[in-house]
Amino acid sequence: MHKIITLDDHWMGRPRSIGTALLESHGHRAIVDPGPGSTLDTLRKELGAQGVSVNDLEAVLLTHIHLDHAGSSGALVRENPRLTVYVHKLGAPHMIDPSKLLASAARLWPDNLEQLFGEALPVPESNLRILEGGETITLGSRKIEVAYTPGHASHHISYFENVEGVAFVGDTTGIRIEGHPYVMPATPPPDIDLRLWDASFAAILERKPKRLFLTHFGFSENPVAHIAEFRERLRRWMETTEKILETAKSDQEAMDSFMATMRAEIGEHLPAKEVEQYVATAGLNLSFLGLARHARKRAQAAS
Ligand SMILES: [Zn+2]
Repeated sequence: MHKIITLDDHWMGRPRSIGTALLESHGHRAIVDPGPGSTLDTLRKELGAQGVSVNDLEAVLLTHIHLDHAGSSGALVRENPRLTVYVHKLGAPHMIDPSKLLASAARLWPDNLEQLFGEALPVPESNLRILEGGETITLGSRKIEVAYTPGHASHHISYFENVEGVAFVGDTTGIRIEGHPYVMPATPPPDIDLRLWDASFAAILERKPKRLFLTHFGFSENPVAHIAEFRERLRRWMETTEKILETAKSDQEAMDSFMATMRAEIGEHLPAKEVEQYVATAGLNLSFLGLARHARKRAQAAS
């Protein structure tokens, strides 16, 4: 009657990199974070393995609009025009017209945007259901509560389902591949905000989820310990970035120093091939750019 299944989108051929959750309740089906356009065929196959087609879905729940989470939404709606796409109000305009989203992504990935994320088609406004947090979505007999959880992105929301107590938190609690001990920040530009992020941790914990579901990747079984570890790591990564920026002679030197420091840290917790998996999935270089931007904003505000 009720199911939650992890679909592996095999982004860039890598297992356990981007995951889509399939929720079922009494024959009603929704997916959380369908992934980028580049993995749409894999998503179809993964759905097929569960005996489900795109036409059997009634809703797409987006945690936020970054291409690795939401890029395939427009293509899915074109295939199944009955789909409702749930999205935060700050993200909605960019689903209707993805041109700005694509232009800013092209600045971050100038060489291989298409290869990484494929096409991002617009979602017709009539298919969108625009959220702010506080809403409840019904799927069969399952109730799904929406909470606004900015920090990673200003347009980030999380979904809390009531049957199994799973919180679908997107990137709000970082990156942790199911079964591994290490949780890693993903802090890309432009709008990471550590103060808002702290309030989002509180919003998640206050709903007492039994498990977290992370887009990168899968379930995490102890939300309280997970979030405590992640919050502390985020704070230390910020401090490390500020120190590096104080001493580095150039932006490139700062980036190199950050990458080396963090690779070494991750390597203390994980085998070498898993380090590369985390670095690639999170976009460690982008995390530096996001933290550096946040550090400079904070320094400006203080002076
Ligand atoms: Zn992501």
